[in-house]
Amino acid sequence: MSTSVLTSILAQGDWMLSLYVALGALSVFILGRYLLLMNPALEQTRELNVAVARERESLGFYPPIQKRSKFWGLLTQLCVFTLVVPFSVTATSQPWWQVLLDIFLILMVYDFFYYLVHRFLFHDGPLGAPLKWVHAVHHQMKNPCRMDSAYLHPIETCLGIALYAATFGLLALVLGQFHVVTAIVTFVAFSAINQHNHDRMEVDRFPFKYLKYMSDMHHVHHARFTGGNFATISLFYDWLFGTYDTGSGWGKNRRAS
Ligand SMILES: [Zn+2]
Ligand SMILES: [Zn+2]
Repeated sequence: MSTSVLTSILAQGDWMLSLYVALGALSVFILGRYLLLMNPALEQTRELNVAVARERESLGFYPPIQKRSKFWGLLTQLCVFTLVVPFSVTATSQPWWQVLLDIFLILMVYDFFYYLVHRFLFHDGPLGAPLKWVHAVHHQMKNPCRMDSAYLHPIETCLGIALYAATFGLLALVLGQFHVVTAIVTFVAFSAINQHNHDRMEVDRFPFKYLKYMSDMHHVHHARFTGGNFATISLFYDWLFGTYDTGSGWGKNRRAS
């Protein structure tokens, strides 16, 4: 690639906007968490997960894996905010309905790709699950807590973030650049939903029933390596492809192996 072509590609990237997305996502994450934890039911959930996390940290093998995952996660995020986001976002105003539609579309397309990777590369399928050994690290936790969402082999940490970034970048290439608000909301949702799926949650009343159900379903996935529930954002693709696993016994929605 000649220097002039490279220069013209680099000139199309808006690195300042990418920095705003990163800072915006971080602020929404911190502020949102602070506001949510003002609710006693969610604070109780946090305390429960912190108590389990403390027990985990006393295990000799646990902290180094978390530390390694954080390092590779930060490095991958840095690549994403340097190589993907600057070319995929715009500050030009867009109608509110388009922002909402884009948020829904990005999360659902990402969930579809995640479903495929999680099921066929990590668990089983015609490819023989070539990365089962990678995912086995995460599945050491049979009854996970929130902190276990980052208890991953570095390859899985990088792959998870890269998959999201690739979905975001490819859709932006096809549909046009996404608004900065779309980027912030989807980045926060992608990480927050994944963390929440690992929450241990005892509160089971309105309006928290769906939140509890989502984390329960991911706990069903962790309980056995051969279960279903491969998607992360919703259970739609598991329902669609017959891998929806309610954990209530070997029924018609359970897979035979
Ligand atoms: Zn799994
Ligand atoms: Zn998990």
